[in-house]
Amino acid sequence: MYDYDLLVVGSANADLVIGVERRPAAGETVLGSDLAVHPGGKGANQAVAAARLGARTALLARVGDDAHGRLLLDAQRAAGVDTTGVLVGGAPTGVALITVDPSGDNSIVVSPGANARLTPEDVRAAAGLVAASRVVSAQLEVPLETVAEAVRHLAPGSRFVLNPSPPRPLPQELLEACDPLIVNEHEAKVILGGAEAGGTPEDWARALLARGPRSVVVTLGAEGALVASAEGLARVPSVKVDAVDTTGAGDAFAAALAWRLGAGADLAEAAAYAARVGAAAVTKPGAQESYPTAQEVERLCC
Ligand code: ATP
Repeated sequence: MYDYDLLVVGSANADLVIGVERRPAAGETVLGSDLAVHPGGKGANQAVAAARLGARTALLARVGDDAHGRLLLDAQRAAGVDTTGVLVGGAPTGVALITVDPSGDNSIVVSPGANARLTPEDVRAAAGLVAASRVVSAQLEVPLETVAEAVRHLAPGSRFVLNPSPPRPLPQELLEACDPLIVNEHEAKVILGGAEAGGTPEDWARALLARGPRSVVVTLGAEGALVASAEGLARVPSVKVDAVDTTGAGDAFAAALAWRLGAGADLAEAAAYAARVGAAAVTKPGAQESYPTAQEVERLCC
């Protein structure tokens, strides 16, 4: 009935990474390593993660008509993502300029570029893609009104999943569409704000649920996750692994969760599977390069 298990509406960035002995202070120039260019951006990451697991996946995004845009499109196609919804042009491809020191601390400057030009009109032009998808997932590295427009074109019976990153206050229409809203600790605190940002993850989950989403998932890094819905709260344990690089683990988790929910799993089952995918992703360096296939998830011991 649906052409796609998952449509991701979101960003695509080229991550430009330079290793440095010390990150530069204001006015200072430091020498660094050779430049490494990686495909990234939360939307592109989620789409690759889902496709590698075997989901029929499409991406609705915008890249520039430039080398970074071609790198991102190649990475999507190599993973098996349908890129008919990736628009090209209008601004340079989004980039993240990342300097990372030997302790792993980094400084990042993001130029949203083409991501900021993904408009509600682009979504309306791709309404058929949205309506052909069992699950639509989004993040907030593209304009909020673009994400809100996608919700208006969901097929009856389909599902909307939002990771509000970078976090900001959300309109009620968007909050009520989420099933689930997926947040980490920082995102939970920004969205709740004020006194409700105190307390435990259980407190945040209850407070977020009261704002209108049909369900909430709080990710807790190496501590796993917490799921909450009208049926109650449940902790989802993490899978113990030797973490090498946690970049993009949250995106892999969100994509896996969205896909399993669409396939009929309940929230706790889907989150348990997503925790395995997130754990597998942290065992390898990079984001998209670290995402597992379904076979690799099965082999991950628990
Ligand atoms: P990011 O923004 O860095 O991509 P995030 O903060 O959105 O990540 P996390 O909570 O760090 O998301 O990770 C998502 C999920 O991945 C966690 O809920 C957990 O299941 C899994 N995970 C992350 N880090 C680890 C780890 N060190 N060991 C095992 N599982 C992990």
